[in-house]
Amino acid sequence: MDGKRFKTIGSQTRLNEQKRREWNRKIFSLCWIASLVMLGVELFLFLFYQPNEECGRAEYLYLFVVRPSALEFLAVGVFQLLFSRLVKVYSRRLVSLYTILLVTVVAGIAVCVHTSVRLMPMILLMPMLLTPVYKDWLLTLLQAALLVVVYAADLLYFIPNSSYMPQSTRLIEISIFIGGVVATCMILKIVNESLVVGEELSRRDSLTHLYNHEVFYEELEYLQGVFERDGTGFSVMIGDIDNFKRVNDTFGHAFGDEVLRYVSRLFLENGGYEAVCARYGGEEFTMILPGHSGRETAARAEEIRRKFEAHAFETPGGAAHFTISFGVAEYDRSYPNPGTFFEEADRALYEAKKTGKNRVVLANLNEKGV
Ligand code: GH3
Ligand code: MG
Ligand code: MG
Repeated sequence: MDGKRFKTIGSQTRLNEQKRREWNRKIFSLCWIASLVMLGVELFLFLFYQPNEECGRAEYLYLFVVRPSALEFLAVGVFQLLFSRLVKVYSRRLVSLYTILLVTVVAGIAVCVHTSVRLMPMILLMPMLLTPVYKDWLLTLLQAALLVVVYAADLLYFIPNSSYMPQSTRLIEISIFIGGVVATCMILKIVNESLVVGEELSRRDSLTHLYNHEVFYEELEYLQGVFERDGTGFSVMIGDIDNFKRVNDTFGHAFGDEVLRYVSRLFLENGGYEAVCARYGGEEFTMILPGHSGRETAARAEEIRRKFEAHAFETPGGAAHFTISFGVAEYDRSYPNPGTFFEEADRALYEAKKTGKNRVVLANLNEKGV
């Protein structure tokens, strides 16, 4: 598995599991380093500059050095302790949100303790800058919402730092903050497009923009691991357009390509967020449905089959209709590897072809009591 790549389906983005873990680890290290640097800076200011003379030395030490650092180290420690437990129980997206939340907590403590430092809230943008690494825009939006909450807490002196708070111009602070958010969003977009899109493209089929064969197997492998860990099942369907060679021979390859694009759209439209749709080969398409039984997946395949059959393609000779056959299989412990499991779905597809085409066949029909 190549840990450097990202997967994308249409507007949905999905991060390679290995890469996601790597980012989680890096973000935890970042939080430890940030907390240490903060402690160092605060100690330096306390020992050599004593910036707030109205405050007594002991009070200053407590408010600006001991309390913020203790809170930061406690937060990072607790988050990290709970992390390994959460990974086993919750979805990938929730674990990523949790990791990013820690950065917000670390930045939030610094900001809320130093309410008198005007530009301090700018560091709240840091967690947002990190969200693109997860390739999940919902995560970025949640983070943006969180950022507003922490900033509001800061404005309300959530953790008052001293009874000698200097006057500050809120208007200037707010304008700087909004400007910072806008600039960061622009940077995020540029970074995203320049660094990541190219990598994503190599994971997709150029004609249909579905995942390619390699990503399909990676996802099967990942879901096999999830199944072994917590028993969450998954199913797969493979669809193969009937008599596609004849479609090409009759209407030309460009027309054939249009038919392939139409099938890919049907897959995406009927898959939903969790589905992983791929172009397996020439006119063969696959869909993995995590958390779905073979029966549910067969019902979805049937929906696609029905829509495809009903669609009228325009040809010089009038409307033309085509058909597609499906093989569906549900994963269980009996398969030693994703390849063997997929062969089961392939066999079901072969059965569908052999018994007249334009139909859906669910593998292990008898064993699963369907
Ligand atoms: P069956 O019903 O048994 O599936 O018959 P079939 O004709 O669909 O199957 P076969 O495997 O013989 O033919 C598949 C055809 O798909 C052959 C190839 O020309 C065509 N094909 C593969 N990739 C592409 C592509 O990217 N564009 C187009 N237009 N055709 C393709
Ligand atoms: Mg084929
Ligand atoms: Mg075919």
